[in-house]
Amino acid sequence: MKNAAIAPIGPDQPEVGEAELRERIAAFVRTRVIPAEPVLDAGGGEAAAALAELRAAARAAGLWALPLPAELGGGGLSFRAYAALAEAEGASDHGPAALGSAALLDVTMLTRHGSPRVREKYLEGLVSGGLRSCYAMTEPGVPGTAPLLTGTRAEARTDGNWLVSGRKWFTSGAADADLVTVLARTGGTAPDRDGLALFVVPTGSPGFRVVRELPVLGATGQYEIELDRVLVPADHLLGAGGDALAIAGERLALGRTLRCLRWLGQAQRAFDLMCERAATHGGSRGPLAGHQLVQQHVFDALLALRTTRPLVHEAVALIAAGEDARTEVGLAKVAAARMLQRVTDSAIQVHGAAGLGPDTALPSLFRGGRAARILDGPDELHITSVAARVLRGYSPGNNSPIRG
Ligand SMILES: Cc1cc2nc3c(=O)[nH]c(=O)nc-3n(C[C@H](O)[C@H](O)[C@H](O)COP(=O)(O)OP(=O)(O)OC[C@H]3O[C@@H](n4cnc5c(N)ncnc54)[C@H](O)[C@@H]3O)c2cc1C
Repeated sequence: MKNAAIAPIGPDQPEVGEAELRERIAAFVRTRVIPAEPVLDAGGGEAAAALAELRAAARAAGLWALPLPAELGGGGLSFRAYAALAEAEGASDHGPAALGSAALLDVTMLTRHGSPRVREKYLEGLVSGGLRSCYAMTEPGVPGTAPLLTGTRAEARTDGNWLVSGRKWFTSGAADADLVTVLARTGGTAPDRDGLALFVVPTGSPGFRVVRELPVLGATGQYEIELDRVLVPADHLLGAGGDALAIAGERLALGRTLRCLRWLGQAQRAFDLMCERAATHGGSRGPLAGHQLVQQHVFDALLALRTTRPLVHEAVALIAAGEDARTEVGLAKVAAARMLQRVTDSAIQVHGAAGLGPDTALPSLFRGGRAARILDGPDELHITSVAARVLRGYSPGNNSPIRG
């Protein structure tokens, strides 16, 4: 089944120059973004200043917002062309923000489902970096895996506008965001899908507040937010009534695939650190690289990387073609999250205590690997939904098993 809604948003670019562009991005991340990681990780004013400096440097280098639409000021790369670069860009978790591609999910969602006013008001600012956005589905006390139980409410006013009230948490980047897309119930009760809607809410609206920061294994960037009768204009509703979960599903498919590409870049970085350590450190019996148990770490990590990469690119190809990619995205997401956790764990092991200390990026890469197995849906959700979809194809009377 064709899924036009998740087809690429930019025109296809020739592959000529792709390798050179990838190398330029890798060099930017290596020489500019990675050295700034300790400051960026700490958050606060210094991090904001460092990020602004990196963004200016990315613009000056012609590397800004490459996958965003050219007519809005982006680089106009197709999703497929960008996917070839995203691993290099994502080698640092801060790469997409520094290079302006972090807005891709919101720009894609608002381009497809925003009203003319929403598109006109926000898209250019999101692409230029003048506006920042975040996305709030998950709520305290409600399983993130069960969005039908969403407790946030949107009440229709007689003038057509909405009053949105509720609490969300683990909203990435909420403290710096100008806009937040909020999943809320406009009517009905669980498990009614039609009563759910997505609203674009300016964070400067009266009644919106950041309640607290939620450090994740010590890292900054996640927040709990509250909306207390926030007035949202009628034309800030995305799509038509009842579309919310389909729009969220599209966004998640693209988002999970982008994350997988970035996790490959981060795992490759941990792998390189592990191998350099093994080749250069050792004891009385020579370098660690000579120990078979260290070689086992290297082999298993390489195998995990090399077997995950094609799965991720299978999902990329289907999404770029506008095909149903649910099975492939589920496989890729679980494989990439496990792979990142496994490779970073091995790299830490080979470093010994140095791998847990402040002198390498391994603790933050490992933290990313652990969170990867929960965010955007925990492993279990993907395992059960992929398996159930495949098994449905084998049930008696169904002659078209899904690519089992
Ligand atoms: C770093 C980070 C960033 C995040 N950013 C955002 C964001 O920007 N916006 C946002 O809305 N949310 C965000 N989240 C929230 C994230 O999407 C949810 O945490 C995730 O979807 C899981 O929901 P939950 O935490 O409520 O876990 P629950 O749904 O309560 O699940 C808890 C556990 O129950 C088990 N479980 C659940 N379902 C099944 C099943 N079907 N079969 C078997 N076992 C199951 C699993 O072990 C699972 O880990 C973020 C989370 C993290 C950690």
